[in-house]
Amino acid sequence: MDAKNRGIEVNWELEADVVVVGSGATGLPAAIQAVEDGASVIVVEANWDVGGHAIVSGGNVALGGGTSAQKKYGIEDSPDLLYSDLTDWSVVEPNGFPDYRYNDREIVRAFADNSAPTYEWLVDHGVVFIDESPDSRGAHATGNSAHRENHVAAMGWTQMETGRPVPADQATTTSSGVGVVRPLEAAARRLGVQILLRHRMTNLVREGDKSGRVLGIIATSQGRALHIRAKKGVIIATGGSTGNVNFRRMFDPRLTEEYCGVAGEPYSFQDASGELAAMAVGASLWGLFNQTGEFGAAIVKPSKIGCQYGHTNLTWRPGSPVFHLARATGLAVRDYQDLILVNQAGRRFYDETKGQFTANKCGSLENYIPRSYRNAANIKFDPSNYLNAAMAGTGDGTNGGGPIWAIFDSQAVRREGWTVTPPYVDIDAGFFFSADTLANLAASIINKHQRRPMPAGVLQDTVAGYNRFVDAGRDPDFGKPAPKYKIQSPPFYAAWSTPIIHDTRAGLRINARCQVMDFDGEVIPALYCGGESAGGFSLHGLARCIAQGRIAGRNAAAESTSA
Ligand SMILES: Cc1cc2nc3c(=O)[nH]c(=O)nc-3n(C[C@H](O)[C@H](O)[C@H](O)COP(=O)(O)OP(=O)(O)OC[C@H]3O[C@@H](n4cnc5c(N)ncnc54)[C@H](O)[C@@H]3O)c2cc1C
Repeated sequence: MDAKNRGIEVNWELEADVVVVGSGATGLPAAIQAVEDGASVIVVEANWDVGGHAIVSGGNVALGGGTSAQKKYGIEDSPDLLYSDLTDWSVVEPNGFPDYRYNDREIVRAFADNSAPTYEWLVDHGVVFIDESPDSRGAHATGNSAHRENHVAAMGWTQMETGRPVPADQATTTSSGVGVVRPLEAAARRLGVQILLRHRMTNLVREGDKSGRVLGIIATSQGRALHIRAKKGVIIATGGSTGNVNFRRMFDPRLTEEYCGVAGEPYSFQDASGELAAMAVGASLWGLFNQTGEFGAAIVKPSKIGCQYGHTNLTWRPGSPVFHLARATGLAVRDYQDLILVNQAGRRFYDETKGQFTANKCGSLENYIPRSYRNAANIKFDPSNYLNAAMAGTGDGTNGGGPIWAIFDSQAVRREGWTVTPPYVDIDAGFFFSADTLANLAASIINKHQRRPMPAGVLQDTVAGYNRFVDAGRDPDFGKPAPKYKIQSPPFYAAWSTPIIHDTRAGLRINARCQVMDFDGEVIPALYCGGESAGGFSLHGLARCIAQGRIAGRNAAAESTSA
């Protein structure tokens, strides 16, 4: 099993027709499709279990274009309508940002054509959808013309975030990503796919430095490098770059280290290793504005505070196998009247009750006229931009906005019904503080991302000013509607509430066949990519990943075998 890489002999320790890197929403479908199309398949997975972000996802899957579920519930849709929706340059989000303008038409067309077949394929491979009409729940930018969001039943599978299955009476009505991953994992194993856990791909092996065919990968496991030959092709399904600070800052320099509550972590870390390995053999990136663009859901306001990982749709519970890494569940905020948010300098920066703008989905644009500039006039404009204010920086000459702290008092704790001790809050790692005075609270805030001590006088002034707004019944600084509660009853608290990065929206350049392309616009032979590591198509989530995984698997299996 030897081959030449840049003239050097490579000793392959393992081989298969297709090697898939990553076992999440893209990798598992890619592996199944390839093996069903006649290829032998090895999946390498860096983690100790399969599933990536997909296993902790909400299981909302935006597949349309005429699915059997849409037909059953009388929803008219077609690949052409889906394509038209997802390429409509005229649609903007409520902040004026265009959803669909910067996508690669060829890649969207491939998705539109594969969308409904992918829904049926999931059903055929054991995924159980909740029996209800497709809707727009959990949808992001799925198009204005038809409901396309389907919800996968959690069934009896153990959830990564809780360490238990959902209660039996909710198994067919609760949507969860575990209901996508476990049936696909079972199908892959049944079909003979070899899944190598705790194997992290570090390099691709190509014939020439930046020329010739991709021959295989190098993966490390327990400190040992393993050369795995891919006779037909390698599929990069590594899930994107949200967890790699230097990589993500190529697109947005503000995204510095303090944005450490990346959604999906601490189970699965998307470190750009797929992109970097492919770029090292000549791959190009694609659709990069989609990563910088201000989409409603790419970076989100946390809805749980006092912990590192406060994403709205993912609560880590003590039974989770990774709870020792998550360390706290966080305090779910019911009413943002109960607190103020301050930056690391102790200053308020926004109306705390505001979130961010939403993405477009079926019906968000009333009087939708495809491809008409009037759509922008029909959108309800909402300039709320919590995130830009939170990430604006504090004038200290650095790029990121620094930590954001929720400040509240004992009365707020009572109103919210919070328990302000572990495991609800993370005191040991510096994501939650309390003190008997505001000055002591400011002094107590020690966190590696707090670049300077919070000035006690500034925090005291901020709270005193806010308390005056409560007396006056209005917030002249940021327009918080009738501020309700003073912050005055000790003890006082500071809880981490820093924005969370949710998605990767740009990655490797691919074509409609999910072949990776180089800087000359040429296909890199035998290299494929899909999902969040692929660029050119800013559609959030599972649907695009699963569809692209299938496309990549099918085309890789059809490659000629390398000599
Ligand atoms: C909290 C949360 C909720 C979500 N809810 C929804 C939802 O309801 N609906 C929806 O559509 N989308 C949702 N998403 C998004 C969706 O889960 C992702 O878009 C999708 O899982 C991405 O698929 P992927 O294959 O690109 O990456 P992943 O599913 O993350 O899989 C990538 C895999 O590659 C592995 N890997 C990475 N690097 C290497 C390497 N070098 N070597 C080997 N293996 C490697 C990772 O460990 C991981 O297992 C959610 C995401 C999160 C975090």
